Amino acid sequence: MASLSVMGLFADVILPVPFETFTYAVPTEMEQQVVEGSRVLVQLGKTKTYAGIVLRLHAQPPADVQMTQGQFRFWQWIATYYLSPLGDVYKAAFPGILKKAPTGGTKRKGRRKDEALLLSSIEDEGERVSMLNPVQQQAYDAIQESWQTKSITLLHGVTSSGKTEIYIHLIFQCIREGKQVLYLLPEIALTTQITERLRKVFGDRLGVYHSKFSDKDRAEVYQRQLSDEPFDVILGVRSSVFLPFQRLGLVIVDEEHETSYKQQDPAPRYHARSAAIMLAQQCGAKTLLGTATPSIETYYLAQQGRYGYVALTQRFANMQLPHIEVVDIKRLKFQKRMKGAFSPRLLEEIGQALERKEQVILFQNRRGFSSFVQCKQCGWVPRCQHCDVSLTYHKKMNNLSCHYCGKVYPLPPQCPECGNKDFGSIGTGTEKIEEQIHKFFPQARVSRMDLDTAKTRAAYEKIIDEFAHFESDILIGTQMVSKGLDFDNVSVVGILDADTMLNIPGFRSYERSFHTLAQVAGRAGRKNRVGKVILQTRSADAPIIQYVMDNDYASMFREQVEERQLFHYPPFYRIIYVYLRHRDNALLQHLAEEMASTLRKSFGDRVLGPDRPVVSRVQSMHIRKIIIKMENGASPSAVRTALVQAQNYMLSIPVAVNLHIYYDVDPQ
Ligand code: ADP
Ligand code: ZN
Ligand code: ZN
Repeated sequence: MASLSVMGLFADVILPVPFETFTYAVPTEMEQQVVEGSRVLVQLGKTKTYAGIVLRLHAQPPADVQMTQGQFRFWQWIATYYLSPLGDVYKAAFPGILKKAPTGGTKRKGRRKDEALLLSSIEDEGERVSMLNPVQQQAYDAIQESWQTKSITLLHGVTSSGKTEIYIHLIFQCIREGKQVLYLLPEIALTTQITERLRKVFGDRLGVYHSKFSDKDRAEVYQRQLSDEPFDVILGVRSSVFLPFQRLGLVIVDEEHETSYKQQDPAPRYHARSAAIMLAQQCGAKTLLGTATPSIETYYLAQQGRYGYVALTQRFANMQLPHIEVVDIKRLKFQKRMKGAFSPRLLEEIGQALERKEQVILFQNRRGFSSFVQCKQCGWVPRCQHCDVSLTYHKKMNNLSCHYCGKVYPLPPQCPECGNKDFGSIGTGTEKIEEQIHKFFPQARVSRMDLDTAKTRAAYEKIIDEFAHFESDILIGTQMVSKGLDFDNVSVVGILDADTMLNIPGFRSYERSFHTLAQVAGRAGRKNRVGKVILQTRSADAPIIQYVMDNDYASMFREQVEERQLFHYPPFYRIIYVYLRHRDNALLQHLAEEMASTLRKSFGDRVLGPDRPVVSRVQSMHIRKIIIKMENGASPSAVRTALVQAQNYMLSIPVAVNLHIYYDVDPQ
C-alpha cells in the first residue's frame, strides 16, 4: 500500500488549451502509475475532459510514457523562442487521436516478431546504395570532416548535383552507428519522390510523417518512435520535429531555403529549420542543411565560420546546367506580339519539345495564379464580407471564394455598383494558362498543379506520378512545381512572368525571387541535352535577372546582405511581429498605440508601428501589427519577459477584455 503523505502528489499537466499548464492532485491510488510524461485524463471546468501530459511530478514509477525527457526541453524552447503558449505546442506536436481520452490502454507497438525476421541487416542494405562518384565522395568526406569541429554544415550544391545521393550515404552511416535520422522536406509534394528513393535502400527502417496522413497513421508513427523498435529514419515535413527520438544522430534539412518551413497559423509559429537545429543540438546530433540556393541567414553563418560549408558546383554525370533565355515581355506587349501569356519564343520551344517527345514545365507565381473578377465598367471588385481581401474566381465552379476564411459566394448576375453585366476576369491564373495551352497545342496532355487541383495528398501524388511516368506532356503549376522535384525528361521550362514575384513587398521578396527562379530553372535538363529555360519578364535589365541567368548566388548574396545590414533586417537583426486583434476597429487602434508605447519603454526605438498589415481584417476581426527589430545578440528569454509583461499590462485594461495578442518571431 502506498503511504498517504500529508502533501500528496501533484502533477503539472499540459492540456490542448491556450494556457501554460494546469496542476492536479494525483489520486493516491494512481501515485504508482503516473510519471512525468504520462498521459492522464483530467477534468477541466465542469464538463470537459481532456487527455493531458504530465510535465512535472515527484515520483518515478514506470507507466504509459508518451514523451521522452528530451521532448519537454524541446517544447519549452519552442514556446519560449516563438512566444507561444505551451498548450499550443502540445496541440501542434501531438497527433489529435492521442489528445483524446484514451480508450483502454494504449499498447506500445513495436515491430512484429515475424517482421523483425524479415528485416535484413543494415550491411545487406549497403548493396542497394549506389556508389558515389569521386566528386560526391569528396563532398561526403568534407561533410564528415566539418562535423568534427562544427555540428551544423551547409551543403551548397547546384540542382541535380547528387545531394540526395550523399544524404543516403550519410543516413546509411548513421544507422550503422546505431543512431536515428530525421530527414526534413519543406513540402508534402516532395515526400513521394524521396520516399521511393529511400524506401529502395532502407525498406521498413523508414517512417514517413506528415499532416496529410490520417491522424491514426500519425499516432502510429508517434507510438512506434517510443517503442523498443523505432524507425531508424523519419522522412517528414516540419511537424516531424515533434516526434520522439531516442538516439537521434543526424538531422537533414533539405531545401533549407524554403519559406514553407515556417509555420504560419496557428501558433506555434515556428521555423522548422531553426527548430531542427535546436532539436539536433539538444540530442547531440549533427545537422546538414542542403540546398542549391541557401537562405541569406544560413549562407551568412557559413561565411562567418559558424557553420561548416561544403560546395558541389557540378551536376551529376556532367549534365549541363540549363541555358536561360530572357524574353522581354514589356517590349513584346508593346509590339502586340504576345499570344495571351506566351511569347513567340516560348511557344516555339514548347512546340519543339513536344515534337521531340520531351516534357515541359510552365511556372506561374502563386500571386498571379488567383484570378479575380472586376467590373469592366466601374472597376468594382467583389470582396469578402468578413475579411479585407478580394475574392478569387473559380472558373470550373463559376463561383467566388475567400482564401482567408473559405467562404464561397455566387458570382453576382450584375455589378452591384453600376449594374453592368460584363465582368472581365483579370490576372492570368493557372486555369487560364491551361485554357490557352489547349488552344495552341490541342494534342498535348496537360496537368495542372495548384491549390485547387492538389488539395489532397492523393491528388498531389497523382499529378506528380502522371508527369513522372510521362502520362502528361506539360505540367502547369505554381511554387509547388519549383521544389526539388526530379523529372528526367523535362527539356523546357517556361517562367511565365517573373515580375509578379519581384513586386511583392517585404524584405525577403528579392531573395525569394532568386530562390524560386533558380529552382524552377533547375528543373530543366536531361542527361544528353542542355535544358532550356525561357524566362519572361518586364524587367529584363534588373540585376536579379542577370544573377539568375549566370547562376550567380554570391553576387545576389552580397547585394542583399548590404541592404539587410543597412535597414536592420536578418541576419543582423531578429524580427518579431506583434499582432493585436479586436472586433472594434477604433478601440483596437487605441489599444495598439498603448501596446506600442508600453513596448517602447523596454525596447526604445526598436519598436515600429502600430500599422495595418496588408490584410487588416480577417473573419470580422481587425488587425494591427507592431514590429520589433532586436539586435542579434539579445537574449530571447529577456525579450520574452518584457513582452509578457507588456501583454499582461494590456490585458489588465478593463476595455481590453476581448483583445487577442499573438506573435510571429522570425517572420518569412
Ligand atoms: P540533387 O539532390 O542535388 O538534386 P540527386 O541526388 O537527385 O541530386 O541526383 C540527380 C540525379 O543523378 C538523380 O537522378 C540521381 O539518381 C542521379 N545520381 C546522383 N548520384 C548518383 C550516383 N552516385 N550514382 C548513380 N546515380 C546518381
Ligand atoms: Zn460596375
Ligand atoms: Zn473571408
